[in-house]
Amino acid sequence: MPQASLFSAPPPVSPEGAPRLVAHRTRHRIAPFRFLRAESFEAADILLRANPGAVPMAGGLDVVNRMKEGVTPPAVVWLGAIPGADAITHEGDDLVIGAACRHDQLATSPLVQALLPDLAAVWGRIASSRIRAQGAVVGNVMADVPAYEGPALLAALGAQLTVLANGRSETLALADRQEEATAPVLVTALRVPLAAPSGVRRLVYDRSLRPALAVALSLDVADGQVLAARAVLGAGHARPVVRAVPATGRTLGEMAAQAPDLAAQAFADLPDFTTPWAGRTAYRRRVAPQLLSRLLKEAAR
Ligand SMILES: Cc1cc2nc3c(=O)[nH]c(=O)nc-3n(C[C@H](O)[C@H](O)[C@H](O)COP(=O)(O)OP(=O)(O)OC[C@H]3O[C@@H](n4cnc5c(N)ncnc54)[C@H](O)[C@@H]3O)c2cc1C
Repeated sequence: MPQASLFSAPPPVSPEGAPRLVAHRTRHRIAPFRFLRAESFEAADILLRANPGAVPMAGGLDVVNRMKEGVTPPAVVWLGAIPGADAITHEGDDLVIGAACRHDQLATSPLVQALLPDLAAVWGRIASSRIRAQGAVVGNVMADVPAYEGPALLAALGAQLTVLANGRSETLALADRQEEATAPVLVTALRVPLAAPSGVRRLVYDRSLRPALAVALSLDVADGQVLAARAVLGAGHARPVVRAVPATGRTLGEMAAQAPDLAAQAFADLPDFTTPWAGRTAYRRRVAPQLLSRLLKEAAR
């Protein structure tokens, strides 16, 4: 009897009997769809509403990969042609990152390097140069892939999403995004709050144990004293877990000296890990405060 090969095997069939495009990571298998080029965010919002099931697309890395795997949106609304959609600006107390801004633009932006140098430095370590040149920061956040690093880093900085829904613009804290909130939204920009002029905002990050987990720490400091410290555990759950570190009022030296204890307190009540990992859950729970402790010492230097 002839053996079925990868090439001769019939396409997988869904329970309803219809052929399903799965496990074929080639663009030749992508089902027909409408490609809609938005000229403005308002137009994109209208196009998304007029085409139920349509998805917004920035760099397209995830959208196209998912289509190769058999996801079949009837239409794709491309945001990359919207004038100024990739801009990074300084508005009031915020750094504003446009929805089409790519990783590389963020990492190399002179404005970001001047206003929040740690953000630029950390972003330059994400992914490969090819991915950084194509993938958008907002695409990384909205892809909802727990191992992606954007959500944890931006949640540590208290970033907010500006979203357009039904013609209305609203702002939503990234850390407040709920897992169950599945209604499609159109993000027009990310707002990252900056430190008060009298202080400094640090961002330090440990990605050495990805995809098991990653830890980010933001620290506001003025006159050598901690004003606020926020730790985020990424990759272990559907959404990053954000915790305050009880270091407020301490000097940097005190924070460094008490780092293991502060880290243990901050991560004392971690929810059960939910993302798949071959290792033991207890390991992730034990190592997360250790990474945070190291970051507290690093940020104190
Ligand atoms: C080989 C490879 C390596 C990678 N390595 C890393 C890594 O080391 N670290 C890391 O963090 N990431 C990594 N990534 C992920 C990468 O950063 C993301 O794929 C990329 O940022 C997605 O951006 P995009 O513009 O291509 O998104 P798209 O594919 O355009 O969109 C992604 C998702 O976001 C939605 N979306 C896009 N824009 C909007 C918007 N404005 N409003 C609402 N929804 C929107 C889309 O509908 C889709 O669901 C890697 C990816 C690849 C392929």
